[in-house]
Amino acid sequence: MLRIRNLKCYYGRIMAVKGVSISVKKSQIITLIGANGSGKSTLLEAICGLLPGWEGEIFFEDTPLKGLDPPAVVRCGISLVPEGRLIFPPLSVLDNLKLGAYTLYRKHKHAEVKQTLEKMLDLFPILRERARQPAGTLSGGEQQMLAIGRALMSHPRLLLLDEPSMGLAPMMVEKIFQVLENLRNDGITILLVEQNALAALQIADFGYVFETGSVVLQGPASELMADQEVKRAYLGKDYGEFYENK
Ligand code: ATP
Repeated sequence: MLRIRNLKCYYGRIMAVKGVSISVKKSQIITLIGANGSGKSTLLEAICGLLPGWEGEIFFEDTPLKGLDPPAVVRCGISLVPEGRLIFPPLSVLDNLKLGAYTLYRKHKHAEVKQTLEKMLDLFPILRERARQPAGTLSGGEQQMLAIGRALMSHPRLLLLDEPSMGLAPMMVEKIFQVLENLRNDGITILLVEQNALAALQIADFGYVFETGSVVLQGPASELMADQEVKRAYLGKDYGEFYENK
């Protein structure tokens, strides 16, 4: 569904992504894990048209994404849940959700927006309770749900998420990741960037490990979870011991 070949991204003269190739298959969760600053967010920005001047190839189905601006990428069927949620705090929960449908409003598909809005409020009942509240008054977990709901408003076939677990309590992480699994089971394809490698690998089908701008390891999520180096570097000492004693 998404094919990236030999992607190189630059900030000025610094190469932040150094010739990365990844594939995302339909109805799967693919995760990108790795240390801070290893280029994961930069790769998502390149897909979304937020980063000028990258080299290589990005194809979504048969469409090359090179040169497309962010609204054109959304119209192709790709939506981003950005790092740090980036909701609009003074606007109501409802208005934040409606903003996610701006490509549909442009086509005067108002009835469709209304229907999708109802679906989002069913998916996240807490957002229905808080519908008229300024989004800035929501808890971190609720804001993450809002950011996911907003991204889903444009009916994406591919959902990109940048660190959805950031700053959330473990129970809320579990809830959010359950939502991601349900979305995958409903046929939405997910590309998930995560620092919380354990949570990500537990729900993912396949994973890529990033290090300083390159993919250093890739494989089915279950194999990565069993990999000694991944356990040591990303799953934590306690997890490694837990795993070995099983
Ligand atoms: P994190 O989890 O911290 O977001 P990441 O793996 O997503 O890490 P990126 O944010 O893609 O990594 O950063 C890759 C490299 O590019 C880092 O060295 C970072 O400092 C650099 N970088 C990111 N954004 C910019 C920018 N706007 N200007 C200059 N350098 C940047």
